[in-house]
Amino acid sequence: MGRLIIISNRLPFSLDREGDKVSLRQSSGGLVSAIKSYFENTGAQRGDLTGKMWIGVADFPQDDWRQVAAAHAAEQDFDILPIFPDKDVYDKYYNGFSNSVLWPLFHYFSSLAEYEGPYFDAYLQMNQLFAETIVPILEPGDQVWIHDYQLMILPHLLRQKKPDATIGFFLHIPFPSYEIFRLMPTEWKKTLLHGVMGADLIGFHTYDYVQHFLHSVKMLLGVDNYFHNLQYQDRLIRIDLFPIGIDYNKFHQMATDPEVEEIRTKIRAQFEDRKLIFSVDRLDYTKGLMQRLSGFEYFLERYPEWREKMVFVLNVVPSRDTIPAYNDRKKQIEEKIGTINGRFSTISWQPLIYRYNHLPFKDLVALYQAADAALITPLRDGMNLVAKEYVASSLGRGVLILSELAGAASELSEAILVNPTDTSDVANSITRALAMPLYEQRNRISLMQRRLQEYDVFKWVNDFMDQLQQVKQEQKKQKVKVLDERTLTSIRRHYQRSSNRCLLLDYDGTLVPFSRIPSEAAPDNSVRDLLTRLSADPKNHVIIISGRDLSSLDRWLGSLPVTLVAEHGASTRPRNGGWQQMVSVSDLWKDEIRRVMQAFVIRCAGSFIEEKTNTIAWHYRNTQTGLGFSRSRELLNTLSQLIQNTTLQVIDGNKVVEVRISGFDKGASALRILGDMDPDFVLCLGDDTTDEDMFKALEGEGYTIKVNNGASAAQYTILSQQQVLPLLNSLLVPINTNTPSETLS
Ligand code: UDP
Repeated sequence: MGRLIIISNRLPFSLDREGDKVSLRQSSGGLVSAIKSYFENTGAQRGDLTGKMWIGVADFPQDDWRQVAAAHAAEQDFDILPIFPDKDVYDKYYNGFSNSVLWPLFHYFSSLAEYEGPYFDAYLQMNQLFAETIVPILEPGDQVWIHDYQLMILPHLLRQKKPDATIGFFLHIPFPSYEIFRLMPTEWKKTLLHGVMGADLIGFHTYDYVQHFLHSVKMLLGVDNYFHNLQYQDRLIRIDLFPIGIDYNKFHQMATDPEVEEIRTKIRAQFEDRKLIFSVDRLDYTKGLMQRLSGFEYFLERYPEWREKMVFVLNVVPSRDTIPAYNDRKKQIEEKIGTINGRFSTISWQPLIYRYNHLPFKDLVALYQAADAALITPLRDGMNLVAKEYVASSLGRGVLILSELAGAASELSEAILVNPTDTSDVANSITRALAMPLYEQRNRISLMQRRLQEYDVFKWVNDFMDQLQQVKQEQKKQKVKVLDERTLTSIRRHYQRSSNRCLLLDYDGTLVPFSRIPSEAAPDNSVRDLLTRLSADPKNHVIIISGRDLSSLDRWLGSLPVTLVAEHGASTRPRNGGWQQMVSVSDLWKDEIRRVMQAFVIRCAGSFIEEKTNTIAWHYRNTQTGLGFSRSRELLNTLSQLIQNTTLQVIDGNKVVEVRISGFDKGASALRILGDMDPDFVLCLGDDTTDEDMFKALEGEGYTIKVNNGASAAQYTILSQQQVLPLLNSLLVPINTNTPSETLS
């Protein structure tokens, strides 16, 4: 039980002043009503939400707020917590870092990004101010949902102070490809990613944005994902796509609104028989207004038969005009409009009608309904709601021409999709739209309408919040417990009363510490002695399950009565038999991989290649920290592309990148061995990524223990490799005589 706390840069509330009287007005945006509806229909009904609160920067004076705060608090609506930042800091954070670094870069306008140090400092400061405001009021059970690119560091700042908080983050703009994201100064980009990863659930509009984000996380933080789940600093994080919807019914129901009908009739009368095309966008370079005008100009040139038979109404909504990149463009657009009108107008016709204004809701919907086509051609757009609103408002006719670079294009596939920079593509699309038969228009619109109705903004909020709960549940299940004395004692008791035991032990990092040179990691006497004593008990079956090659395992442990599994299962030697190869394939694939890895050995001093029968590995344990890691990211990238459509797989291990034949993992190997045994006691110890396969496969089969801290599918962790031998030795000591505290200390 807790509150739903929404955090966005701006509050969706404003204050109206009439003389001395101040009153609060709530924005009519889809998000506000969707969150309200979620709260009323789901959260409150299910009984897990007790209140709803919105936190954000106020665009009204603090004194005015004081006048209405008390009265508002008594209403049964959102609790509002306004933030009143320092003007200069806010300016550098909002106009500076948010809109002159993140916005252009994330929309692929990298040349417009201004990498100014003070902008980033102000961004940190403002995210910190949000955190300081929120932390004192957070209570257990609260569900926090942070919105958008202005607050990317906030999830981490909250997590630092409230490790168990439930935090969702949604990015409303595109997440760019890694090649663009990496342009930012290293400290900034790492801080941003690390910041967002403070959340439990991170949402994006499209599949591509999810992939770009996951790729950046892998390249910069070295964290891999598993079906969109990441393990980061002991926590499970889910990354997923939630394409935002609109309040479909609100737009669709406007078909019968008398006021909208009146405006619509007036618009139609004004244009008589002429076809009407329109567009509505904020004044923003991402919206592709100049390119759209060029496309329109080319249309008039190329298809003179349409002159005087159509009109293009271009609505531009004022936005961010204190930023020079915006203001300069306004002049260019207006000049271009003048040029086109000057060139093509006649005494009785002007091809372009330009409006630089906000449109009241009903005027906007009437325009949506009256238009024969919408020309929405952003160069990049996270989603583009105007496109969706146009479709939802349609009375069964009209054609949507939509940029393929808008997020909405992945859902609105029945639109005419265009490349916004291709003037002839834009021109051709306009003719196609204007000539499209009515039945085809209806067909396309109704398919899109059905989709928008099914996943509207209410579903979107529900979907996101449901997933957030699910991640929290998963985290609870996954929470690895540090193995304590009590649990160890109960494991020992179980061991002593069982008669068919299976001990699955990883080698490097578990039985022996990591060595600078893999070939030198031979077991010392204490390991050999322990394995000898364990395997001497006929009730025990000891299995060393390793990524090592067959010959090393054979040399070091071949004389012991234990089962050896090499290269994750590609070769196995039963305790009383000879080596068996599980695969026989040609080695040709290795030549190509070796060639790539050799180039990385040259470029990264201290790294080296290790070859095994079915694996080839590039180790970077002995390289300069940082350099080794960053080269390993490049290598991963190169190899992943190289092995596409092959039966190979790349593993990002502990200071090693491996390519191996897929189909072998320690999990499958462990299950195969257990299947032949039917044991009554199973203990499995491992430390690395590849051991996770074993931990997952053995869920419910026995005790799984991860060596070293960190998130894991194992049931328990022990803190270091030095604790492994004492733990295994303790199994051999009758329970009453061993002093428990010596084992795990
Ligand atoms: N809109 C508005 N006032 C206007 C014109 C449009 O509030 O005068 C709304 C429009 O209905 C849509 C939003 O602004 O919901 C624009 O969203 P979109 O995703 O298309 O672009 P953004 O401006 O967020 O980049």
